[in-house]
Amino acid sequence: MNNLQPIQNIIVCPACRGELHIEQNGITCIGCKRVYPTHANIPQFAIYKKDKAGLKAVAEISNDNYEQRYEDFEKAKNYNLKYDRKPLKRLSTLREYQILQRLLGGRQHCATMLEIPCGGGRISPQLVNATDMLIQADVGLWQIFYGMTR
Ligand SMILES: [Zn+2]
Repeated sequence: MNNLQPIQNIIVCPACRGELHIEQNGITCIGCKRVYPTHANIPQFAIYKKDKAGLKAVAEISNDNYEQRYEDFEKAKNYNLKYDRKPLKRLSTLREYQILQRLLGGRQHCATMLEIPCGGGRISPQLVNATDMLIQADVGLWQIFYGMTR
């Protein structure tokens, strides 16, 4: 089952902002006809360098450096493991958890929450208890794949 069905009415094509047609094996933009594949049930909305028109449309919000840095599983895994192994990174994560607890603690449980960028899911456990549905997105596809293994 495609996990985008619950949010179909709030997502749009990243290239043209057109309406998306979501199917079992992929997503098609009704406006510009781009086809976005899904990998392991994760939609991939990345626009690659060979898609010149698409790149121009998203130039202001694109971050090639970040995408390339985590273009395989091992790179994403090593990045995330730093947060488990390095004391200052662990402290940074704890501080982020405290801030999230302070921000979310007094609020009511919400129906939907968006976590962008979700990376490898380092802070996701703090968010998931505050919402019925946590929607995660990241330009680094392998960050998401790594997060699914945790
Ligand atoms: Zn489009």
